[in-house]
Amino acid sequence: MSIKFKNCIILATDENGHFSVLKHEVLCVDTDKISYIGPEADAPYCDCEKDMKGAVLMPGIVNAHCHGPMTLLRGVGGGLALQEWLETAVFPIEDKMKPIDIEAGEMLAVMEMLAGGTTYVSEMYDFPWNSGKVLSDTGMRANICRVGLSFSEETEIPKGRFDECVDLVKNWKDPYDRVRAEFCLHSEYLTNESFVSRIAEANKDLKKTVNVHVSETYREHEECKARHNGLTPIQYLEKCGILDNKTYAAHCVWVDEEDRRIMAEKGTSAIHNPSSNCKLASGFAPVKELLEAKINVGIGTDGTASNDNLNMFEEMHLASMLIKCVGKDATLGKAEDIIKMATVNGAKAMGRDDTGELKTGMKADIIAVSLDKPHMFPAFDIPNILVYSAQASDVIMTMVDGNILYENGEYKTIDKEKTMALVKESLERLY
Ligand SMILES: [Zn+2]
Repeated sequence: MSIKFKNCIILATDENGHFSVLKHEVLCVDTDKISYIGPEADAPYCDCEKDMKGAVLMPGIVNAHCHGPMTLLRGVGGGLALQEWLETAVFPIEDKMKPIDIEAGEMLAVMEMLAGGTTYVSEMYDFPWNSGKVLSDTGMRANICRVGLSFSEETEIPKGRFDECVDLVKNWKDPYDRVRAEFCLHSEYLTNESFVSRIAEANKDLKKTVNVHVSETYREHEECKARHNGLTPIQYLEKCGILDNKTYAAHCVWVDEEDRRIMAEKGTSAIHNPSSNCKLASGFAPVKELLEAKINVGIGTDGTASNDNLNMFEEMHLASMLIKCVGKDATLGKAEDIIKMATVNGAKAMGRDDTGELKTGMKADIIAVSLDKPHMFPAFDIPNILVYSAQASDVIMTMVDGNILYENGEYKTIDKEKTMALVKESLERLY
């Protein structure tokens, strides 16, 4: 199947990696890839044409840190401090969650993400085989993992967790290579050194990406130093060998200069979660310094209990505002750079260099954003209007791997009513 998108603005990436705003060209998709961007006169024949008048095509958004099924906990414990929020609001509900709830919550997350232009997500939650099935069946691009946890140095608690982590990585199969399995450590504080080292050892051969929470709160950062002879979470992960494979670290609010030096040297990416860090008052990641150290920075929403949505347009907007405000410099956090963080940088962090840009040969992960709204007019500067004016609800089409999954409020792979009924059943069981 091939499709030609015409009569729209295209936010393409040129050979130097810069955005180029094309106003008189077409974009063709052949099967799962972008096959052509250029003048219509030279375009190849396509099976169908789509008139996208009044829209801008941009790369699909990459949510590089998410806990999708937490949609079932949207907003619970709002206003509580982090520890109390976890212990009194989040954990008691999570303890009751079964695979059927995970699937319902993930479906709800996918609906929200597709409607808001997210095409690729990093998923970290319980029952990854169930989440993975939902992500795969709905056509999303995703990385999934069994969350690495270990509460005791002597006995394995939870029992069998290491084998489950390895089992998912070795045995997860997706014929389309859209959903990939990777390793995950929840964090330094919910694992111990022998578990972390075993994961690093197993990954010497498997060479998977590693997803981990790092230095989200000041308390976590300082307690790690107290436990490990002054080593910060990043320094400890380096010592255990985790950073020898491509690792992406969520939050990085408290990473110091030495941490940033290590991250740059090891190619570790940082994932910025501005809404979650603000809502839980964790602090603000030193994004300016991370970028100055040449560290790849992506953006994520985190889960909906600490955000409380999966709206990546909101994250882009807030990320840009915070960088400027914290750095007291309006030239920081340029719209082009913020869009790259939320697209190609996130994809690179998660181990994929075949998506995140509109360029010939890239995967056809494409969204259309309507400019035909009062708040989107006049659109003098396309990257600028996408970061500062656009809302997630301005997305009118979401394509992943060459398949249109969402268009003008309609889901192509999801039965909206059935999903909402399943979500309601889960909520009745859980609350
Ligand atoms: Zn998280």
